[in-house]
Amino acid sequence: MQSYLHTAIVTDAVCREHRGPLEHPERPERLDAILNGLAKSDVMDLLVRSPSRAATLDELKLCHTAAYIELVQKEIAGGAAQLSTGDAFICPQSWEPALRAAGCSLSAVDAVFERRAKNVFCAVRPPGHHATADTGMGFCIFNNAAIAARYAQKKYGAQRVAIVDWDVHHGNGTQDIFYADGSVFYFSTHQAPLYPGTGLRDETGIGAGLGTTLNVPVAEGTTGREMSAIFREQLVPAMKIFRPDFVVVSAGFDARVNDPLGGLLLTDHDFADLTDIVLDIAKEFSEGRLISILEGGYNLAGLASAAVQHVRTLAGHL
Ligand SMILES: [Zn+2]
Repeated sequence: MQSYLHTAIVTDAVCREHRGPLEHPERPERLDAILNGLAKSDVMDLLVRSPSRAATLDELKLCHTAAYIELVQKEIAGGAAQLSTGDAFICPQSWEPALRAAGCSLSAVDAVFERRAKNVFCAVRPPGHHATADTGMGFCIFNNAAIAARYAQKKYGAQRVAIVDWDVHHGNGTQDIFYADGSVFYFSTHQAPLYPGTGLRDETGIGAGLGTTLNVPVAEGTTGREMSAIFREQLVPAMKIFRPDFVVVSAGFDARVNDPLGGLLLTDHDFADLTDIVLDIAKEFSEGRLISILEGGYNLAGLASAAVQHVRTLAGHL
């Protein structure tokens, strides 16, 4: 039924304008590495482009407090080097990239729900999964994945959204935003102990959200084979119960072997495996609707090759 639909990519050159201190690992060259990697591969020919756009303030407010949004705007305009809420660098140009990173994710939601693409990869920065409703931290300003989930619920009536986060770090912001909300399932694999220190096994949600947070902390040195087993044995059964009608991937490629910020051993092939698993979930419960949003990944060559393998798998060209 969807065979005529392609995988889309959405990105925005403005996302390059967000710059931290020299040598900071979260740098504009990350996007260049991914886009050059795709251009040099056979994958780009399989993709269509989705338009980029900026998120509106009302869209940011789907997940963030008005006071926090105002603070971000004020601190960027005031020339601060870092948000006062946490370790997220900013520069005078950071406002528009932050809006575009979130807006590209919303453009991706539109593309899958309006059936212009079968799934979408968002090559954007700054990343988002550490940002809570009122706290930017961990290189994250606005929580792109969380805003996309809420937007799908509001605009398209999605009832149950699954956010699958394989970044090497725990997405404390995403967990926090949906912790008491049973309509968004947050699944995370992450190295522990590691920044930000949250994501313990017994953090499973509260109130209406009890049981819709599933954390699987793993030790340094965990392999892709072990990670695939966790996805098959823990994520898949949970999704059979939750039955998501939309899947969002927080795609952090810092879980790859040789990442300077992580100690896991996933290969490019392993990211293809994980991608296959989430695609199967989307196919079974969500009519294939899936978007993937870039989070971390700091070894430029490794980031590029893992992302290419991920997008190749999304496009169904193995
Ligand atoms: Zn990370």
